[in-house]
Formats: sequence, C-alpha cells, structure tokens
Amino acid sequence: MLNVRKDFPILTKVHNGHQIVYFDNAATTQKPKQVIQAIVDLLENHNGNPHRGAHILSVEASKLYDDARIAVQKFINAAHSEEVVFVRNATEALNIIARSYGETHLHEGDKIVIPISEHHANLVTWQRVARVTGAKLVYMYLDETGHFTENDLAKIDSKTKIVAFAAVSNVLGMKTPIKKIIDKAHAAGAVVVLDGAQAAPHMKSDVQQWDCDFYVFSGHKMLGSAGTGVLYGKRDLLNDMEPFLLGGDMIEYVQEQTTTFNVLPFKFEAGTENVEGAVALHAAIDYLENIGFDTIEAKEHELVTRALQGLEQIPYVHIIGSTNAEEKTGVISFTIEGVHPHDVATILDSYGIAIRSGHHCAQPYGSHIGAEASNRVSFYIYNTVEEVDYFLDKLKLVRKTMGFKD
Ligand code: PMP
Repeated sequence: MLNVRKDFPILTKVHNGHQIVYFDNAATTQKPKQVIQAIVDLLENHNGNPHRGAHILSVEASKLYDDARIAVQKFINAAHSEEVVFVRNATEALNIIARSYGETHLHEGDKIVIPISEHHANLVTWQRVARVTGAKLVYMYLDETGHFTENDLAKIDSKTKIVAFAAVSNVLGMKTPIKKIIDKAHAAGAVVVLDGAQAAPHMKSDVQQWDCDFYVFSGHKMLGSAGTGVLYGKRDLLNDMEPFLLGGDMIEYVQEQTTTFNVLPFKFEAGTENVEGAVALHAAIDYLENIGFDTIEAKEHELVTRALQGLEQIPYVHIIGSTNAEEKTGVISFTIEGVHPHDVATILDSYGIAIRSGHHCAQPYGSHIGAEASNRVSFYIYNTVEEVDYFLDKLKLVRKTMGFKD
C-alpha cells in the first residue's frame, strides 16, 4: 500500500469546510516535504551563482546543479549527461527545438506530422516553423476513441522531416504507441520530438530504448518546482543547433564582433541557472524512484479504473477518448450534458474538489471532436479510492444544482 500523503503538507488544506481533493495533477502536482526541504536547504546553506566563482558557495551550488543533471540523465536513461539541458519547462524546450532545429533544418515542401490532440506548446510552435520555412503542417486525426489509425501513420512519409507527439496526451490521458511511431518516423528519415510532459511523471522514460531524438518534460508536473524543465536531445543534433538564448555561461570566447559558444549542455543554458529548480527536480526524481514506477502505475491504474467505472454509470457523462484503463495513465476528460465545464468545476470546488475545466491547451482537438471545453480529472500517487468515490458522489449533484430533475 502506497502511503505517501503524510509527505504532502498541502493535502491537509481545508476549503469551504472540506479537505481538499486535488485532481488537477496533469496541470501541476503537489510537492512532498522532501522536495520543499531540498529547496530550503539549498537557500539556507549552499546558495551561490553556479559555474562562476571560486568561492565555496558557488562551488557547492555548481555541484548540486551538476548532480541534478546526472540524476536526470539516469532518470531518462540518456547516454550522455551533456544531452540533458535544463530549461524552464516543456514549453521552452519545444520552442528551442522548433526555432533552433526546425527553422534551420526544414525547407519548402517538407512535412511536419503531429496528432491533432497535441498541446499548444507542441502545435503552435510547429505552425510557426511551417510559416517560416514553407514546410507543411500535417495532422493525424486519430479515431473516435483517440487511437492512431493506419491512415494517420501513413502520413509519415519520405517528405516528413519532423514527427512530434506527446507520449501521453494531456486531454486523452492515453499512452501513445511510442516505439511504433518512432520506428515509422525513422524509417521515413524524420526526426522525432517526444513530449513527455504527461509521461515522465507516470511511467519509466527510456530515451535510448525509445530512440527518440528529442524528449522534453516539466519538473512541476512530477513533484518538482515550477521553472525547471528538461530538454533532452541526441548529442549530434544538439551540437548541430544554434543556441536559443545568448548571454552569460553559454559562450566560450567573446570578441568585439564575434563569439564562439560553450560546449553542451551550457550552450543552451544562458544566464544564471535555476539551481533551486534543479535541486527540487533531483529530490523529486529520488522520491519517485524510491517508490518505483511499477507501484506508481499500479496506483494510478486502480484510481482510473474506479473513476471510469463510476463515470460510465452516469448516463449524462461523456468520456473523451478510450475508456479502457489499460490504455491510460491517470487522466480522464469528460463532459456533462447541459452543464458548462466551468460550472461543473465551480460546483465541485465548493466541495473542496479541484478539477480542470477548459480547453486544456488543445483547442484544435476540442474543435475536431466538437467539445470546445471539457472537464478533466487527473490523479497522482497521493490520491485515494475514497477521494474518487467522494468525487463521483458530488458529481452526481452537479446537474441537480443546475436545476435539472435527475
Ligand atoms: N505538453 C503537454 C502534453 C502538457 O500537458 C503540458 C502542460 N499542460 C505541456 C506540454 C506544457 O508544459 P509546461 O506548461 O510546463 O511548459
């Protein structure tokens, strides 16, 4: 039995007379004491500007920062630590790839292929690459239950230079057939950009086994703090890219008119690093690995199974995508007939239940399936079956609250 709630101080918060039930983990996760303490320890005992001083505090901050990078390297099984670049979040990582790789390597007539369900961070970015280079942005539309079709995969052809997709969709919560798509993309000669924002917190990431060319994720969705994310790229690709931001620490030698750049990963880490964020991510990785992804997946499976069973019994609830728990992490999006998702979320909030409402940063998918807005519950290691049951009970009150007879 996973008993981690005691590590998460925020879970005792009371809102409107109810203990908070936090089901918005796909947006951001809560933080265990171990992560909070790691940040406090850095700031109380080791704070200095890394890689820039000979004094003890700079040296200690540098060591903590560099150790965090090694922890990430192991966490995703990267071959080399310099393939791990610290960035602000998944969004920034995707922007770096789009600008520093996409805009300089694609040409008119090339294809960028992505699923229609992508997060805006992995979609708007490619729209601009297409606009700037003349490449064509082509969508895989998925079937009605959110699965990739053979027709979708056939869009990956010899003209395709980029295939970008989420390892787990933030709307559907479905696990993408990662290896199948990557093999297909590589056979076509395309570079694969894998968005791990919803995968890294929930399943083992193995960039060498997947053989993805880029992998990105955000620390705050996996118990770490906001402001730290990861850009993984194969060394040759990162070496072949222009730096994204220019400034301190990313240079080798600066003359009046020209500059040579630092080696990887520093070439992509201009400016003073977010050591707090790196330390927090390191503590988060230790915390997750101590639990183990087998246990994490089993826990989410239990919660999602219970929630799906309950939701499927409510006639006016429509679940988006697959209802097969085997295919999902702990994310379920749904709509309620006759009630706007914001009203659903506001009514549940009055019972202390935090769920997401809106377009989930995936407007093209919402338009495609005819659900511009929806609700989303997303679970994590500290959630319980009792919380799921409480949520299902209160959800059944939503339509009554809005004046419906049932
Ligand atoms: N991709 C996916 C699949 C996401 O779910 C998110 C966050 N909702 C992002 C990218 C962007 O993450 P961030 O806002 O941390 O940059």
